[in-house]
Amino acid sequence: MAECKNFDRNQDICNCSYPCSRKGLCCECVHYHRQREELPACYFPEDAEKTYDRSIEHFIKIRP
Ligand code: SF4
Repeated sequence: MAECKNFDRNQDICNCSYPCSRKGLCCECVHYHRQREELPACYFPEDAEKTYDRSIEHFIKIRP
């Protein structure tokens, strides 16, 4: 598998607090959550992210 050239930068800016092998691999992260009709952690502010509820309904509920 090719390595992601942005892996280190992605890890630095990722706000996800869940221990996950996809952290820093944004394409895999988006794919994983999209197929579950969810959004990745970076769509959520810190307090909402920590609930690990990545549903679109949660996003709509908490967005300003
Ligand atoms: S948002 Fe989901 S897939 Fe992405 S790093 Fe966090 S737990 Fe893993």
